[in-house]
Amino acid sequence: MDKKKINIAIDGPAGAGKSTIAKGISKKLGFIYVDTGALYRAIAYYVLKKGKDPSLESDVEPFLSKIAVELKFIDGEQRVFVNDEDVSDKIRTPEVSMGSSAVSAIPKVREFLFELQRKIARENDVIMDGRDIGTVVLPNADLKIFLTATPEERARRRYNELKDKENSPTYEKILADIKIRDYNDSNRAVAPLKQADDAILLDTTDLSLEDSINKVVELVKKLPNQ
Ligand code: C5P
Repeated sequence: MDKKKINIAIDGPAGAGKSTIAKGISKKLGFIYVDTGALYRAIAYYVLKKGKDPSLESDVEPFLSKIAVELKFIDGEQRVFVNDEDVSDKIRTPEVSMGSSAVSAIPKVREFLFELQRKIARENDVIMDGRDIGTVVLPNADLKIFLTATPEERARRRYNELKDKENSPTYEKILADIKIRDYNDSNRAVAPLKQADDAILLDTTDLSLEDSINKVVELVKKLPNQ
């Protein structure tokens, strides 16, 4: 039988550095990095493109039987497809960010994406990031990290990432959006953002990217099956 795959779960609020840190770790360890937020974003993108409201179940649910969402790993990079359209770059707008937080509170959306995430983790060594990976999607993950930083620090990082792009939002707008998403993600009825009982808390407010990556890599190397 195949060797059991290693699954690492990274959860935490928007902008805590999950994707940058997880990408760095996946390169060091040769694991696949799975960004589950892209799945919720892809659904929000499609709903918005059709002129519908991502916060209304009655607007979103009818699409679920019409769309195929797929993750492909091309040269080690995740790409997300909706009905064969590669939407990976189009889902990174502030409008889609807010929309994804809205669709993610709809139970049928979470159900729709659940098996897709589980299957990837069964078949690959993965480092998977999201909001409910350690609590719901991969409750038996080999290692769970809850990554956080203050809202101000997270907004500062996002601002620096976006500031040279066209129509970049102000720091104040980014901070306000982060606070709204934190609230929505932590207070929804299904699979809210919360630290799993057996997750290790890593606050990156005062840590450099390199230090954050190294801390997690050290934890992975201590796993019994490594
Ligand atoms: O991680 P990212 O900011 O791309 O996620 C977009 C949104 O998708 C989050 O605000 C959250 O509402 C939702 N999400 C989720 N569960 C996950 C990943 C993301 O609810 N596992």
